[in-house]
Amino acid sequence: PARHTVKQRRWRAHQKQKLYSTQLSLPVPTVEQIVEQDLCLSSSDESFQDNLIIDDDEFEDNLIYDNNYDLDLNADLIESNGSIKHLFIMPEEYLFDFALKRFVEQELDESLYDGAPVTFKFYHKKILEFGNLVKLNDFNMNKLLKLIGSALPIGNKLVKSYRKLVSIFQEQPSFNEVLRCTKCLEIINNNNYCSIICERNQCQRRVADVIEHVSVDRSNRQLIEIIRRNKHLILNYPQLVDKLLPCDVLTGLVYEKKKKYLQTTFNDTFPITLMLHIDSTPVVHWIKKHTWLVTASIVEIPPPLRENQFNLLLLSLWNAPVKPDADSLLKEVCDTIKQTLIIDEIKFSIDVLLFKADLPARALATKHVHHNAYYACLECDQEGMWCEEGRFVTYPYIQSSINLPTSAHFDICAKLVHQQFSDDNYLGVKGISPLTKILDIPTQIDLDVMHLCFIGHCSLLLSKWEKMIVKETWYSGNEFLNRMK
Ligand SMILES: [Zn+2]
Ligand SMILES: [Zn+2]
Repeated sequence: PARHTVKQRRWRAHQKQKLYSTQLSLPVPTVEQIVEQDLCLSSSDESFQDNLIIDDDEFEDNLIYDNNYDLDLNADLIESNGSIKHLFIMPEEYLFDFALKRFVEQELDESLYDGAPVTFKFYHKKILEFGNLVKLNDFNMNKLLKLIGSALPIGNKLVKSYRKLVSIFQEQPSFNEVLRCTKCLEIINNNNYCSIICERNQCQRRVADVIEHVSVDRSNRQLIEIIRRNKHLILNYPQLVDKLLPCDVLTGLVYEKKKKYLQTTFNDTFPITLMLHIDSTPVVHWIKKHTWLVTASIVEIPPPLRENQFNLLLLSLWNAPVKPDADSLLKEVCDTIKQTLIIDEIKFSIDVLLFKADLPARALATKHVHHNAYYACLECDQEGMWCEEGRFVTYPYIQSSINLPTSAHFDICAKLVHQQFSDDNYLGVKGISPLTKILDIPTQIDLDVMHLCFIGHCSLLLSKWEKMIVKETWYSGNEFLNRMK
């Protein structure tokens, strides 16, 4: 891809400016200022780009199935699994977005009054912090504001009420919410339009008949907050993991490889590596709807804080009477998640370590056949055998006759399905999963220890052990487990 010309940057900056001025109707920095900021931030990317060797054939191969990549951005080819090259994007654009947002915020923090020694936001933040510290209620906060205001010069910008004070620091929502059609899964617009070929297009819809789809927007507010809150852990834990938790997922081969790649490419950037997770649970008792959640946790945060609810990233939520398809649920997330963020002057590179889910969700996300089908295994190409007696598919142990498929194998199968050489699936593969943009299938698709081991096999073992173990010992074991919660 060509380098950005100054002209392109200006055009883009101009587009941004238009966006901000219409959406926020706030004063914005001039185009020249933004251009400077942009050039300064992307300088390291430019030098990286100089070292890039582009393999044109690969590049075009990857584009056949997906034309949505923005060719204006830096494209990068990495070796994965030693066998195939994947294409992923370094969205400089988002780095730029964040820098611009911070820039706008700073610009907006004006003087409290003409010639004041403090700025508007800074001073209000101090008042709010003080109020929280001494636990002032709304009534007393209003009194305090009035008292401070009475001593300030006329024309000062001090707010008059606690409610207004809080509203200064209230965050914008960081999610996109859309309604989708249950028939075609397309977004329903304000005119009740979903898709021209859909039978439900512009028909009356009941609440039970629409999909509520919430997905994280590109502001990355949630992610930035989590990183900021855990900054010291994130910077230090990867260095100490060998001593503290030698069996943690951070000591695995995939993470090591990613860390080395990052260190040799940008030595001033720290990794933020995500574990993606999908679960389909009835979160609330909906009458007709089921909820699918796409969440992520950051491996650079040590356990048990890693899975703490405040450190879990919600990426997408699908609440509907119908199952999502992999693209509607994951495409947006997979297109935008890999990026570089600058938080408190520190550069973080966001990457994905693995994906885990229970078997139905795993089949859905990887676009593979279900666990009771004939080529259900992602790790090998063994064809299952129908067991008439049990009425399920079995996989007898035959070590010699199986092959271990690579991502190249999955790509070829998906292409064959796409070209309709096969009706539904080819060797278990049903299509190109959106996950292939961010990770390697099958190496980075993890076995889910929760469902396979703890919920499945462990409960069977426990039911057997209960009959063999003395009652008192059994109860004390029970107590021990309860205490761990
Ligand atoms: Zn529709
Ligand atoms: Zn297998």
